[in-house]
Amino acid sequence: MTYEILAFKYAGPLESSGAFVMWFKEWEKTVERNCYFWLIREGSTQIMVDAGATPDLAVKRNLSGYISPEKLLQQVGLNAADIKHVILTHLHWDHAGGSSLFPNARFYVQEEEYRFWLDDPISERPPFKLVSDNACNEYLRSLEDTDRLVLLKGDREIFPGIECLKAPGHTPALQAVSVNTGKGKAILGSDCAHFFRNYREDWPSSLITDLVAWMKTYDKLKSKVSSLDLLFPGHDPLMTTRYEKIAEGSTKLA
Ligand SMILES: [Zn+2]
Repeated sequence: MTYEILAFKYAGPLESSGAFVMWFKEWEKTVERNCYFWLIREGSTQIMVDAGATPDLAVKRNLSGYISPEKLLQQVGLNAADIKHVILTHLHWDHAGGSSLFPNARFYVQEEEYRFWLDDPISERPPFKLVSDNACNEYLRSLEDTDRLVLLKGDREIFPGIECLKAPGHTPALQAVSVNTGKGKAILGSDCAHFFRNYREDWPSSLITDLVAWMKTYDKLKSKVSSLDLLFPGHDPLMTTRYEKIAEGSTKLA
C-alpha cells in the first residue's frame, strides 16, 4: 500500500531571527517560516498529521496569514467532520491547537507526550506554557478513556505502511510519521527539524527539551527514510514553493 502526502500551509510567513531555525547560530539573519498540517491519503483513506490551530488561537497568537484548517481541507473536497484520524506529532499549540475542529476524529499521540503536557507540573512552567495551549489540552482530556484518543507507547504501525516513530528532542515524546509512498519511505518529521537544512547540516532548530535525544532522533529518522529528500521538516517555506500545487494552500510532497 502506498499513499500520497499533501502539505497544507495554514499560516505564515512568520518572521524571526535565524537562530530560531538554526539554534544558537545566525542571530543576525532574518528567516521566514510557515505553519503546516499534512494529509496522508489513498482512495477513501484520509489521515491527518497535526491539526493546525483554531481561529480563536490564531487571533490570540497573532498568526499572520492564517487560513482555517477547515477552509483548506474544503479546497481538496474534504469537510472537517469527515476526518476520522489525526496523528498529533506533539502537543505544541501550533500543531495540536486545532484538534477541536475535528469532532469525529480519533487522535493518536504518544502517551509520554500526553502525560507530560497534561499532568506534569513542569509543563506549567513559563518556557513550556509559552508553547502549549490550555484549551487544546482540555479538549484532549475530555476524550480520555474514549475510543477517540489513542495513547501510543513507542513506535507503532497504525495503518498498513504508516508508522508512528517516537522521536524526542524538541518535546519529551514527539512522534514522526513514516509513510510508504510511490517514491519510497517518506517521513513527516514535524518539528524534529524546522527546515530541511537542519537535517542536512545535522543541526537542531530551537525549543529544545533534550539535545542528546534530538541528535539520536536524527540518526533514527535518517536510518529509516528512503532518501533525505523524503524527510520533511515542520515549518520550511520550501514545502509550499518547491512542490506541485494541489489547491490553494496545499502542495503534494510525495
Ligand atoms: Zn513544536
